[in-house]
Amino acid sequence: MTSVTSMSTAARIGRTLRGMPASDGAGVKLTRVIGTPQLEMLDPFLMLDEFGTDRAEDYLAGFPEHPHRGFETVTYMLDGRMRHKDNHGNEGVLVPGSVQWMTAGRGLVHSEMPEQQEGRMRGFQLWVNLPAAEKMTQPRYQEFAPERIPLLQPAQGVQVKVIAGRVGDVDGPIRQPATEPVYLDIELAPQATWQYELPEEHNGFVYAFEGEGVVGEGDGARALAAQELGVLIGGSRFTIAGGDKGVRVILVAGRPLREPVARYGPFVMNTKEQVMQAFVDFQQGRF
Ligand code: FE
Repeated sequence: MTSVTSMSTAARIGRTLRGMPASDGAGVKLTRVIGTPQLEMLDPFLMLDEFGTDRAEDYLAGFPEHPHRGFETVTYMLDGRMRHKDNHGNEGVLVPGSVQWMTAGRGLVHSEMPEQQEGRMRGFQLWVNLPAAEKMTQPRYQEFAPERIPLLQPAQGVQVKVIAGRVGDVDGPIRQPATEPVYLDIELAPQATWQYELPEEHNGFVYAFEGEGVVGEGDGARALAAQELGVLIGGSRFTIAGGDKGVRVILVAGRPLREPVARYGPFVMNTKEQVMQAFVDFQQGRF
């Protein structure tokens, strides 16, 4: 393994956790990894859901019309197709490998519906908070097909899809100065290793979804199995190894906002009064 000659400190896994079975929308079965009592949030990340099933009845009902205000929803599809449609006239289909970074801002009402009747549906939805000054911004979409997401091979046996953030001199397509997010899909062959420097001030986590690997260096190294999330602490130098089976993870990090969070369902604001106002605005059709 090559060592990085820099002043950075190694990141290690502070704690691991597994998601909890949950149901959302019109009964879609999913695993909620962030946004439960065991990890309510990891500033600026409010929620992480993994959906992954080949049983149509687990997803067919989809997520009919529902509102959002005050944050961003990020959908990364691995398998399956999802049609989205909002009350401002935006509509599209997410295909496998695509990402949608939706800034709900002051509010929209949308539906997210599986377009296929059979086959596998797999992916993630992440919620990213917005700072107070941008919670009431105009809604905005950043949506990219798989061919628009850079795929790098930064080391032997390592493949990295750069959704957000910078790897070497390659930038992912997502722009969000408020939290400067990093979102990488990393696949390592058995025993392959890779090191990546995260922005110093960021909070971050790694979530394994295939195989198993090892995160960290030396005494701080720790195994990470599929469907385990590791909260990163202690430094910015992220190291991962593929273990015996290889591993595939998402590595996600962002600059913490350090603001009060008042949340209720699809509304995430700074105060209770703002959440109440969101209810009123939604009911009066102001989204
Ligand atoms: Fe939604």
